[in-house]
Amino acid sequence: MNDQPTPAVKVEIPRPKRGEGQWGLGYLEPLNKNEQSKRDDNPLNAIGRIKSTWAQAEFDRIDPADKRGRFRWAGLYTQRAPGFDGGKTATLEEEELDDSFFMMRVRTDGQILTGAALRTLGSLSNEYARGTADITDRNNIQYHWIEIGSVPDMWERLDAVGLTTIEACGDSPRPFLGSPVAGIAKDELIDGSSALAEIKRRSLGNPEYSNFPRKFKTALTGHPSHDVAPEVNDVAFVATVHPELGVGFDCWVGGGLSTNPHLAQKLGVWIPLEEVPDVWEAVAGIFRDYGYRRLRSRARLKFLVADWGMEKFREVMEVKYLKREMVRCESPAVPEHQGDHIGVHEQKDGKFFIGAAPVVGRINGDVLLGLADLVEQYGAQGARLTAYQKLVVIGVDGADTEAFAAGLEKIGLTAAPSNWRRRTMACTGIEYCKLAIVETKDRAKDLIEELEKRFPELDSPISVNLNGCPNACARTQVADIGLKGQLVLDENGEQVSGYQVHLGGGLALGANFGRKLRAHKVTSAGLDDYITKVVTNYLAGRAAGESFQT
Ligand code: SF4
Repeated sequence: MNDQPTPAVKVEIPRPKRGEGQWGLGYLEPLNKNEQSKRDDNPLNAIGRIKSTWAQAEFDRIDPADKRGRFRWAGLYTQRAPGFDGGKTATLEEEELDDSFFMMRVRTDGQILTGAALRTLGSLSNEYARGTADITDRNNIQYHWIEIGSVPDMWERLDAVGLTTIEACGDSPRPFLGSPVAGIAKDELIDGSSALAEIKRRSLGNPEYSNFPRKFKTALTGHPSHDVAPEVNDVAFVATVHPELGVGFDCWVGGGLSTNPHLAQKLGVWIPLEEVPDVWEAVAGIFRDYGYRRLRSRARLKFLVADWGMEKFREVMEVKYLKREMVRCESPAVPEHQGDHIGVHEQKDGKFFIGAAPVVGRINGDVLLGLADLVEQYGAQGARLTAYQKLVVIGVDGADTEAFAAGLEKIGLTAAPSNWRRRTMACTGIEYCKLAIVETKDRAKDLIEELEKRFPELDSPISVNLNGCPNACARTQVADIGLKGQLVLDENGEQVSGYQVHLGGGLALGANFGRKLRAHKVTSAGLDDYITKVVTNYLAGRAAGESFQT
């Protein structure tokens, strides 16, 4: 692409009368307290202060601007104190919800976790996080109950196995989603691992990319099943085939859920593997320079993409950032379903990978240590995390797959899950998240157990995503049955925990948002029966081949 001509057109970006805090248009004054805090001090500096000062300090003595703000760039959030329900939360200030602990995210960015890495993750969980460890839908391991004094030792030990928490939260390059089967799947179009590693090398801890208007989510896959939920990322690279140039990547921009969901739009280009990081920097640069910074609720890339449209967005990328034109190419065909890689599958090198499901991503330190034992005992390469709160073990010998799968069952993971265990996700919820209105993880576990009894066999996949608030961290709007936590009225007119229901959403072919009907609200206590009714109606009324979504 370096041979591509420099675009001749001079792109115009008019300066509106009322600025939205877009740096590229000269609106440099901070317009809200988050922007002010980032201006006061680069949030990356808080990482050094944790090591030098805060790790030795009492929780209450830590500067609140660091503790509740800049620590996010270190992968740390203050944790919700136990005992508050959604109703009480509404009347409390953020600091009143604090206990003296942190939630910590370890990003894996599509890397393979070796036996040593899994052992470190498990040991840290048991030593410092009361055994907690959740697999998130963004390739993270998330700990709870972390004391600030533990953090330097945790960082040192994570670093020794190639892991980091840096910029796992904050207005930063958030953890990258990579294909769990990169480099190993027989049907892979291209292995994008090197591009993802290079994006990480260029961006993490780099002040150029440490102050976005808000979070910036990246996904990349060379697998035809689009196994990284590319539609709901700010920027995604998806393998595409050019009739003459061969396999490269299309770039999709502007996806995101939360309270104002958008599916990513396709640039319709062909990018060779080695130039993917340049294109990432172009999209990230546009977001940094032209993203809206006035209102946090409008500060995601999706709003800029919607306002500019694809043609202008691509033109600005080419003229102002890449200084060259990108090759136009039809966007790749969209698969019927996105791959979750559950089960036992042969790799292209003759070994096998095994996709296994915990329950809604919840594992613990002992599970990680048990997995490390299995990986080492059978000489497997390691494990990757998926975009669906699951994991994939890589490089198992054909003769060992049965024994390995039996070993997984013993530690609470299964390579042959029911539909409900396989396709249910839940966010952190009220147990630890300060924004939550309702409980999610335990509720989802009970729901799965009940649905497994009521619908032990299901011939058509149905996904259920439980979320504790409107932020949609577990993708409310793109599940067959999406649940958004809120307070609802029970039959006595009392406010109780419950969910707004979104029906018929999905990713891949026919990607769309679930329908949200006003009457579709359910109490947490009534959830099992509600879903039973919905599924029974679908099974009774469907035409041949009709999926839940249609
Ligand atoms: Fe917290 Fe809401 Fe995200 Fe759940 S969806 S983790 S409750 S912010």
